[in-house]
Amino acid sequence: MGRHSLYARAKINLTLDVTGRRPDGYHTVRMILQTVDLADHLVVETDTGRPGVTVRTNLYYLPADGRNLAHQAAELFLEHTGVENRGITIHIGKKIPVAAGLAGGSTDAAAVLLALNHIYRTRLTRQELMDLGVRLGADVPYCLLGGTALAEGIGEELTPLPAMPALPVVLCKPPFSVSTRKVYQRLSEIKLTHHPDTAGMMKSLKQGSTQDICQRLYNVMEEVTAARHRQIGQIKSTLFQFGAAGAVMSGSGPTVYGVFTEPERARACYRHLRREYRDTFLTRISPKQAGL
Ligand code: ATP
Repeated sequence: MGRHSLYARAKINLTLDVTGRRPDGYHTVRMILQTVDLADHLVVETDTGRPGVTVRTNLYYLPADGRNLAHQAAELFLEHTGVENRGITIHIGKKIPVAAGLAGGSTDAAAVLLALNHIYRTRLTRQELMDLGVRLGADVPYCLLGGTALAEGIGEELTPLPAMPALPVVLCKPPFSVSTRKVYQRLSEIKLTHHPDTAGMMKSLKQGSTQDICQRLYNVMEEVTAARHRQIGQIKSTLFQFGAAGAVMSGSGPTVYGVFTEPERARACYRHLRREYRDTFLTRISPKQAGL
């Protein structure tokens, strides 16, 4: 039996801009993505003797069948490589909140591709895995790369950027879900007044200037979601009250995060928010590549 255990880290958006729409309906984006230490833990087993692909998770409400991206990743890997399936079981210890703007599903899919490539010694390059991964979702290629990166196109055109300093981060997901589709729809109905300074952010990353990076955190989707949900603004204010150097919503939300320069302040903020919001996490910017 083959077995590989690995962490699948979450991502946050340092910036997010929507730049247009393709004829096929997909929106094009320009965003800077960053890995954080908050992660799901996956154990992938092969040759289990149990036919097909089996997914087990610690969350009763997460589908374990073909709707689970980890399941889809295993099927796609088998189809692409022609490896004979003698039973694959994927155990997912889910810690990343679901439907939160943190790419939780995509990072699990990425981890499964990395694990199977390792166990079966199929030697697919990271680029080959990324080309495969995009068929599962636009965020999967980034999750296979990790670190700090500019993502364009539908999110799959990636340019690695200088690593962001490994600062403490408080993540807080209020207890409601947002539909990514609806956020895009509302975005197309309004005239955006602000856009992130993506070029400025790239410059700040290059200079390693924490203050400038934190001041440039910006997500166009926050405008839409915060207008409908007061909690977004409230969480943001709390993060600033406790001394965050910058705070913004991640992806299509509703998770809001704050970057701190002083670990003690981050801890105090985490303890405070945690009392009101169960899905609050104290984590850190991760410089690591995916799968390490
Ligand atoms: P993104 O930031 O890429 O938009 P997200 O963090 O908003 O992603 P996910 O946590 O990936 O959202 O979950 C979105 C949907 O995907 C949920 O409805 C969930 O049921 C489904 N899903 C499928 N597989 C998984 C998985 N392994 N982990 C989490 N969600 C999954």
